[in-house]
Amino acid sequence: MKAAITGLNNEALAIEVERYAEAQLPLAIGLFNVLVYRSLPDLTEHLVIAKGQLNEGTPPFLRVHSECFTGEVLGSLRCDCKSQLDLALETIMAEERGLVIYLRNHEGRGIGLGNKIRAYQLQDSAGMDTLEANHALGFPDDLRTFSVAVQILKALQISQVRLNTNNPAKVVALESQGIVVTELIPSLSVPNPHNRKYLQTKFSELGHHLEALFEKSRKIPDSPPREGPCR
Ligand SMILES: [Zn+2]
Repeated sequence: MKAAITGLNNEALAIEVERYAEAQLPLAIGLFNVLVYRSLPDLTEHLVIAKGQLNEGTPPFLRVHSECFTGEVLGSLRCDCKSQLDLALETIMAEERGLVIYLRNHEGRGIGLGNKIRAYQLQDSAGMDTLEANHALGFPDDLRTFSVAVQILKALQISQVRLNTNNPAKVVALESQGIVVTELIPSLSVPNPHNRKYLQTKFSELGHHLEALFEKSRKIPDSPPREGPCR
């Protein structure tokens, strides 16, 4: 669990965001609203993919999602990013309410796309896991920060959320900056032969809540569970 919190870079709330664009966005699974927030001063554009009234009534479903080009654009099987994003959007459609905050510049837990590919090469050639490869490249476990997500939530006047994550560091990041997490909703995708070691490392080294995918031996079972709670 120590490693999970190591990645929490507790930057002050110096980051500001401005709403830059908003439109409807029809997806294959249904109609969403998409909002673009620019973080200042670097003008990085982050997305909110949302549905329904979010700042009244019961806390909305929220996923704070990190950009992954290889997974989400190319369909890479080395990680579970795309299936986690798809599951979140499907849940929002089913509930007709909720949001995904899609954070840019979060590739490879913040090390960038090129370094993520370098880490993949080390995993293949030297048998390293995702953390060992990051360390070999001179990076910590996790370089991501979540202050932009907090600022976006505050701009949307959302103070309580039902958080869709397996990552305890995200809960700490949000709650330490004033967002109340009223419920934790795990995101359980079906493992494949290419991402089993990655998921195992997330579970055993980063403290992610992937217990349902693992036996007591903390090994990934050969047969994945038939369904996750988000389906
Ligand atoms: Zn990914």
